[in-house]
Amino acid sequence: MSNQPWFLVPLGSLGAGEVTLPPDESRHALKVLRVAPPDVITVTDGAGTVARCAASRVEGGSLIAEILESELRRPLLPEVVVYQGAAKGGKVDDVVERLAEMGVAETTVFASERSVVRWDQAKAARLAERWGAIARSTAKQSRSPFVMRTDQPLSWERMLARVANEQATVVLWEGASLPLRTALHGPPDRIALVVGPEGGFAREEAEALADAGGQLVSLGPRILRTENAPIVSVAAVLYHYGLIG
Ligand code: SAH
Repeated sequence: MSNQPWFLVPLGSLGAGEVTLPPDESRHALKVLRVAPPDVITVTDGAGTVARCAASRVEGGSLIAEILESELRRPLLPEVVVYQGAAKGGKVDDVVERLAEMGVAETTVFASERSVVRWDQAKAARLAERWGAIARSTAKQSRSPFVMRTDQPLSWERMLARVANEQATVVLWEGASLPLRTALHGPPDRIALVVGPEGGFAREEAEALADAGGQLVSLGPRILRTENAPIVSVAAVLYHYGLIG
């Protein structure tokens, strides 16, 4: 079962006796993978429910499967969430994909003084759409029942307001003297990591993040690129709390 693909269905579809795979998932199952009744497949709603299902019939190009058994998995704690400073197109896509692969619960991109990209409402919506698609396909690829949540890119002010509501936040700042590991307590239920853009945070921005409750921490003497810092720090946090390795 484990090397077979998983299929993703909208939240709420795994309650009844049968599930209908959405058009793109049906197409993939029927045309590419040649799934046919009575094959057994694994279906997830992306929010923790995993079901073993038996393909039963095809209707109007959609694959319908009978739910044989299902279980609700709980997310591992702490949930790790990342606020990522905006970077040009492809770089953020790669960050989103890697963080999804590592099991990050939520990734949100934000603008800041030194970020080089700006977006209007239409572009923000397109980005959210694209990052959502990357998160979904990565969850399937890594056989995870949790799809990383993504959002439209946020303004600096909105990001700061979100950070102020987090229970535990570490801000990666190359100017900090406290090492990351000394700021990790708990484990909390959720920990937020804030990573700056290519140009880094302006000093007032780092101070504003500290005022919002973030602990300013260093990853050591080397300056990592904005697309690498989140990967390295998430790996370190997951290792610290025993979630990988
Ligand atoms: N201002 C820097 C580049 C910033 S690196 C320069 O001198 O060019 C991009 C982001 O990665 C930073 O804002 C920070 O969040 C994170 N980062 C990179 N290296 C880091 C380190 N050694 N310690 C803490 N954060 C780091």
